Amino acid sequence: MKKFISFNLIFVLLLLCGCSDNKENKETRMMLDTVVTLTASCSEDAFAEAFTICESYENLFSKTRKGSDIYRLNKATDFIEVSEETAGIITDSLLYSKISGDKFDITVAPVVSLWDFENSKMPSRDEISSALENVDYNKIQIQGTNNIFLNGAQVDLGAMAKGYIADQLLKHFKLKNASKGIIDLGRNIVVFGDRDYDVGIVDPFESDKTAAVVTVRNKSVVTSGTYERSFKKNGKLYHHIIDPETGYPAETDLASATIIGDSCVQADALSTICILVGKEKAKEIVQSFPGVNAVFIDTKGNVSYTDGLAEIDGKIVIK
Ligand code: ADP
Ligand code: MG
Repeated sequence: MKKFISFNLIFVLLLLCGCSDNKENKETRMMLDTVVTLTASCSEDAFAEAFTICESYENLFSKTRKGSDIYRLNKATDFIEVSEETAGIITDSLLYSKISGDKFDITVAPVVSLWDFENSKMPSRDEISSALENVDYNKIQIQGTNNIFLNGAQVDLGAMAKGYIADQLLKHFKLKNASKGIIDLGRNIVVFGDRDYDVGIVDPFESDKTAAVVTVRNKSVVTSGTYERSFKKNGKLYHHIIDPETGYPAETDLASATIIGDSCVQADALSTICILVGKEKAKEIVQSFPGVNAVFIDTKGNVSYTDGLAEIDGKIVIK
């Protein structure tokens, strides 16, 4: 009997250890050129490791950090070897270029660099024209899986990297048996665990307000908006999603596009594409991906969504 009690005691203690080990951690850091907030029920070590993972991806994908894959590619005069992860994102970006009718183009980087949104400064027409000369995703040459030459072009993974990193963080948390959590890399959100989450979509016209709420479970929810990294001049809004044909911010009837799906990198690319192509084409493109949905807020403030969504009690849910 005594033996039985002590065995039970050990079992209970083990359970308690399990609980304290899986406590809810939450932390916000400025990283990846945005605000990163991670929330996860897991061990403290696994939680800290997630930020280390973010940091290592920043070292791989940043266009300004010396020695990153992107930094080296943009400087290279011949084929160079990059990580398979970088090569994978670049390869996938070419598919998104095709899907978007050439509007999504990671070689728009030199034009993006000309726009100074922090100081509300726009480049001259001449600067834009000369930077546009090397904007063409067809310049990207890939040999084997990860030998790449940009042939005078420059790339910027800003439209896909955060989504990709969020997917990797989800894998990490699952591997570490995290029971639930929220990965939020600047509006690239992944929620996981055995419960529903309400994710608010920022009102593009009053960023401290919520324009809509989506209720999801184990999904990625990614928003791109013309209100982020933007400025107004003479009543006109200049934003950070650039039309590679003109070198100017995309003329679009969408103020924001939120993609709901299983892959965060796909949602990241698609949300940017939606802004680039406008509401009508955006709906068509998103609906061509099974299991992927979108919530659109147009420039007049109207909220609409793809056919796979419905509104119940004021919240948007997957049908
Ligand atoms: P955010 O980075 O604010 O979350 P997005 O995911 O929509 O927003 O990506 C916008 C970023 O993508 C820009 O800051 C820029 O680095 C890059 N970009 C801008 N225009 C294009 C384009 N036409 N195609 C691909 N990438 C672009
Ligand atoms: Mg994006």
